[in-house]
Amino acid sequence: MKNYDNLTIERPTFVTHLECAMEGDHYSADQIHNLSKAGKPLMVRYDLAGVKKSLTKDALKQRPADLWRYREMLPVRKVTDIVSLGEVMTPLIRLTKLAKKMGGGGEIIVKDEGRLPTGSFKARGLAMAVSMGKALGIRHMAMPTNGNAGAALAAYATSCGIKTTIFCPAETQEVNVSEIELQGATVYRVNGLIDDCGKIVGEGKVTVGWFDTSTLKEPYRVEGKKTMGLELAEQLGWEVPDLIFYPTGGGTGLIGMWKAFAELEAIGFIGSKRPRMVAVQASGCAPMVQAFENGTEHAPRWENAHTIASGIRVPQAIGDFLILRAVRESKGFAIAVEDAKISAALNEVAREEGLLLCPEGAATYAAYKQSLADGRVSKNDRVLLFNCATGLKYPLPRVTRTLDRHHPIDYAKL
Ligand SMILES: *Cc1c(COP(=O)(O)O)cnc(C)c1O
Repeated sequence: MKNYDNLTIERPTFVTHLECAMEGDHYSADQIHNLSKAGKPLMVRYDLAGVKKSLTKDALKQRPADLWRYREMLPVRKVTDIVSLGEVMTPLIRLTKLAKKMGGGGEIIVKDEGRLPTGSFKARGLAMAVSMGKALGIRHMAMPTNGNAGAALAAYATSCGIKTTIFCPAETQEVNVSEIELQGATVYRVNGLIDDCGKIVGEGKVTVGWFDTSTLKEPYRVEGKKTMGLELAEQLGWEVPDLIFYPTGGGTGLIGMWKAFAELEAIGFIGSKRPRMVAVQASGCAPMVQAFENGTEHAPRWENAHTIASGIRVPQAIGDFLILRAVRESKGFAIAVEDAKISAALNEVAREEGLLLCPEGAATYAAYKQSLADGRVSKNDRVLLFNCATGLKYPLPRVTRTLDRHHPIDYAKL
């Protein structure tokens, strides 16, 4: 809380109500909600005219470099409800050598979300969801997760004394299951995929009253993820990039950023230009790509989902129509990349730029290269890629080279 001593507890907040993303019907703020009556995600709405009057770009400059700097556009009303583990503003890293190799005048910028608490951008969403859970008096949160979301939920909930029960698909990496347990949750491996885990959470909600913290089944994770859009626009001098490549699982970040740009325009911080939003998926699990190409509003469940990029191994997304809407409205596209291309991209960026991406982040670079090759992107474009987690959370290649210090060393050969 130290960073917030200079702020008043009674600060203006601008949430007016929640709204069904499909039907547009309204729900009152300051109450516990999951989905709308139609079974669709709820979006938080603000008095943006009020925000416009009270927030200036200059005022922002004076604030700490973390996600709470955008408090007028966030749902938490009282500073005392903020649950924080240090949500730093993440850096934009230019891949200058690789951009030069592409041979155009474009720019490749990576927003490196691996610097956040628990090592992934899930921290943004869960910091917000747990803060709101605290504000609304929720005692026990449950979640299905491929790993990073569960780790973030465990960390934030434990730090403010909320109980958590978390379900992971059987093949979830050891490191994720361990960090979840160590950060105070009760975690189970389930013999199924993430949507099978989601069903267990849904039943636990009905039978024992857990709060369902699944992606887009509560209204606030998307508000936390929205800060990626606010932040990158501010960091680029309120000039949005030409394209954003986003590794898309449940799509919270893509949906959140699309909402952020609309809100920034409404308060006069940016104009009408939007980045083309590109939903990146793995070819072993590409429901959005299929729906995008078929021109449908929803995406049927993808059977036998598999990819090394576990964060985007999501066979079905409740926010499918919102992802597809953002992609289409922005004149972007959805693209699938092979696992082999993901590994090659990871190696290339690490070896050439010294930046270790996670597989999902590497997928965005692979997708960028693929769309340069197929002409959907120009080499003069300024593109923004998302590295959504630290590469250190994933299995790394073994190195077998050794040196025997008891034998003469031929230094010229090392
Ligand atoms: C969750 C996650 C994603 C997908 O993010 P969504 O906003 O849910 O689509 C991508 N990469 C990593 C590492 C993740 O943890």
